[in-house]
Amino acid sequence: MMPLRSRTYTACSGCSLCLLSCPVWRNTHDIRLTPHGRAKAMQHGATAIDLAESLDSCTLCGACEPACPESIDLVGMVTGLRGELALQREATPPFDGVLPAPTGNISPPTMLIAEQSMSDNPGLLRSIIEQLGGDVAVSVSSDSGTDISIALSDGLPIPAERLEHFLAPLRTTLRVIVADGRLFYALKNWLHGVTIASLGEALSALPQVRSKLSDGDLYVIESVAFHRDHERLISHYDSLRLASGCSMNLDLQRMAVPTTASARAHGREFVEEQVRWILQGRAPTRIVVEDLADIPAFQRVADVPVIHVGALL
Ligand code: SF4
Ligand code: SF4
Repeated sequence: MMPLRSRTYTACSGCSLCLLSCPVWRNTHDIRLTPHGRAKAMQHGATAIDLAESLDSCTLCGACEPACPESIDLVGMVTGLRGELALQREATPPFDGVLPAPTGNISPPTMLIAEQSMSDNPGLLRSIIEQLGGDVAVSVSSDSGTDISIALSDGLPIPAERLEHFLAPLRTTLRVIVADGRLFYALKNWLHGVTIASLGEALSALPQVRSKLSDGDLYVIESVAFHRDHERLISHYDSLRLASGCSMNLDLQRMAVPTTASARAHGREFVEEQVRWILQGRAPTRIVVEDLADIPAFQRVADVPVIHVGALL
């Protein structure tokens, strides 16, 4: 059961706990760019346009949500306000009216929604499919849903026809494995009766993958999916850590320190600072990442091999 975070900015007590895990606070120490700052500003009448800089700064990593004792939907607050802002800015939604080719009428038991960037690495994608499949067929969806993920991040409306086209082949499968953290969360709400797992969770649950991790490894959890299903996934990753001895990008509150490798409003320096923070006090002999986009960020900072969890075998 996903945790219910339905409360709004009105519930903010100003406790500041969300600051502890927020990468934007850590890098800027600017309270206006935090959930605390946004919620308090709104309690005093601020609107989306007043908060434009703050809204742009949020990476949607989700690390603030498990920290908030008031269970405020802090990521939803940002995307909702971004939607209002987009209306005022007359932003163009990321839909071009061309629907991707359908995947067919009968879906296999497991469907993988890979990131577009994985198509640049067919060897890795093949290896991931083989590992996930075992004796069961796995198909890669022909529709990566990138435009839908962008719309979710920006709080923009998704045309019903586009959404139905994306979801139709997924409704007839038993299990969907998805690399994009934002789609992971949305699919949990859109598809009932279908098991949804993040790619990192699915791969790291495999015994053959677990057996390849050891105490010299730093295992980097993809933060968006992790924080949106924090209560359930913390047990999964705790057992992985205990079984393998590897360290993880978890802080004292057991939030996953995000690299925010795909953060739009921040530059390379911001991302590298996050990576240095994760590495502080650690001397891993190898870094294993769930998010493909994290590989170049860690390679720039660390002098050890950096691989995707799908390449462990
Ligand atoms: S989603 Fe991430 S970047 Fe945005 S406020 Fe929360 S912790 Fe900070
Ligand atoms: S943790 Fe929640 S209640 Fe506390 S300041 Fe942040 S948003 Fe407000």
